[in-house]
Amino acid sequence: MPDRARAKPSESERLGELDVLIVGAGFAGLYMLHRLRSAGLEAIAYEAGSGIGGTWFWNRYPGARCDIESIEYSYQFSEELQRDWEWSERYATQPEILRYVEHVAERFDLLPHVELNTRVNSATFDETTGRWSVETDRGVVSAQFCIMATGCLSSMNTPDFKGLDSFKGSWFHTGRWPHEGVDFTDQRVGMIGTGSSAIQSIPLIAQEASHLTVFQRTASYSVPAHNGPLDPERVREFKADIAGFRERNSQLPFGAGFKLNLAKALESTSEQRQSEYDERWATGGLGFVAAFSDLLIDREANDTAAEFLLQKIRETVKDAAVAELLSPDLVVGCKRLCVDTGYFETFNRPNVTLVDVSKAPIEEITRNGIRANGEEYELDAIVFATGFDAMTGALLSIDIRGRGGMTLREKWAEGPRTYLGLGVAGFPNFFTITGPGSPSVLSNMIPSIEQHVNWIADCVEYMREHDYACIEATEEAQDAWVAHVNEVANGTLFPTCNSWYLGANVPGKPRVFMPYLGFPPYVQKCNEVAEKGYEGFSLDSAG
Ligand code: FAD
Ligand code: NAP
Repeated sequence: MPDRARAKPSESERLGELDVLIVGAGFAGLYMLHRLRSAGLEAIAYEAGSGIGGTWFWNRYPGARCDIESIEYSYQFSEELQRDWEWSERYATQPEILRYVEHVAERFDLLPHVELNTRVNSATFDETTGRWSVETDRGVVSAQFCIMATGCLSSMNTPDFKGLDSFKGSWFHTGRWPHEGVDFTDQRVGMIGTGSSAIQSIPLIAQEASHLTVFQRTASYSVPAHNGPLDPERVREFKADIAGFRERNSQLPFGAGFKLNLAKALESTSEQRQSEYDERWATGGLGFVAAFSDLLIDREANDTAAEFLLQKIRETVKDAAVAELLSPDLVVGCKRLCVDTGYFETFNRPNVTLVDVSKAPIEEITRNGIRANGEEYELDAIVFATGFDAMTGALLSIDIRGRGGMTLREKWAEGPRTYLGLGVAGFPNFFTITGPGSPSVLSNMIPSIEQHVNWIADCVEYMREHDYACIEATEEAQDAWVAHVNEVANGTLFPTCNSWYLGANVPGKPRVFMPYLGFPPYVQKCNEVAEKGYEGFSLDSAG
């Protein structure tokens, strides 16, 4: 990243004429910056990292790549950008996605308006001025609007393992991987976790390390990526009708082009089910969960998908006891489905050991390795693939204070409450991009981010046109929305397991289902709210 990316905000911004302060410079913060500056607003983004890109700046572990297809996991706000950019693979690698983000930032001249190496520590709404006072580790700025683009999966979960300080080897979290990479050659490596990050990195680390020991608390379902060079015919089709392609995806439940089968598993014959699952498996990717319309609603239907996936594990993993341990006893899709390249096959390697820590937790990290099940595993390096304090972690690590000095931490003590995942009652002129209560992590996140950014930018412009200084979600609208989010989730199998969607991976976190299920109805609701003059928000001409 060139040094000019660290350009300071102008003097007028420093003196308090900043219209909007954005926290975070990943996909969300950068596009927010673009929309607002294009509308003539004074906006800057503060980013804790030394570079832009968010997820794709931080997660540089071996094998990191998207699992929504590249042509879908990309911005759609510019037709020219979509026409010009060429993805090389079906699922792009982390370096390629980061190059893309950097290209977008250069192309739309966003870098001068991003302050890197700047962590926001607190944001306080001043009721007398109607402005936010935002404190960073480099000073204080004031802005009319404060927009959180802090990411759903940016605050790491590193469990408080006893003895970590005593470990004489090196340790890494997948979400803060060293930029220079890590050479595991001839090393005995321990991996804690078997979620998406672990499943992507295990096959590659196993090829390099002398021995890899995987500590598994919960087994994961995974479907093959069948990654490879992007099919030129698919690119041609996409570029011939970009708008139509994006429009069709926007009508699908996850905002991604998974072919949705409206038939029900339980109303299909076993031959029909087998054929559908076989086809989805051969295609690869997350579209497996769209195989039947009742999969995420009916446990018996879900069991048919589970049995198919378990059979694949048994066919792939040669040691029956290891295959059994790798077999989840969960609803498929309840924890996020993983997409892999050679994950289960890796457990056939002589240098890979699977350790079950489901019945008793890891006891401690010792000077020489990890002690679990009464045994010490000697290691030179440990990889924590232990995930994130999802959806609320980054927000609540900032001291955010709204009306009457009320903190967001107090407001959300029993779980997050928002209106549309965009606004919070008691916190005027404050927006969250892909906040809890929006489709966010249950969708292709780039279209979800763009939809939120467009909605917020339109709202700010509407306020300017109508001389409104202040917007705030009402408690009534928020209560009704929270009830609706829960009602939708409770009609599915999602709340039935200890997933990070529920906050269950972080000890002490309230158990509340955070994302909203259903991209198209959500977008429709947001549009209706805007068309009705921001129904459910109170608008005021005074601050
Ligand atoms: P982020 O990219 O997380 O950016 C937020 C930024 O805010 C970070 O750079 C952070 O440093 C900064 N920040 C946070 N707090 C502060 C603070 N207090 N002060 C200053 N800066 C702060 N989604 C998909 O849809 N498809 C995928 O295939 C996919 N793959 C993923 C793979 C991995 C390994 C991970 C971890 C996530 C993946 N996701 C995927 C989700 C991914 O997070 C989103 O798709 C998207 O990149 C989020 O962009 P964002 O800008 O909202 O947040
Ligand atoms: P994750 O899915 O939360 O997985 C964390 C893993 O660590 C789980 O297996 C968890 O076990 C384990 N773990 C946590 N604490 C532990 C402890 N104290 N002892 C033992 N094991 C422990 O995190 P992630 O793999 O980083 O993925 C998070 C999300 O990021 C994904 O779901 C996905 O949305 C996104 N992502 C996407 C991709 C992609 O393919 N594009 C790649 C990486 C991440 P439990 O299940 O028992 O809690």
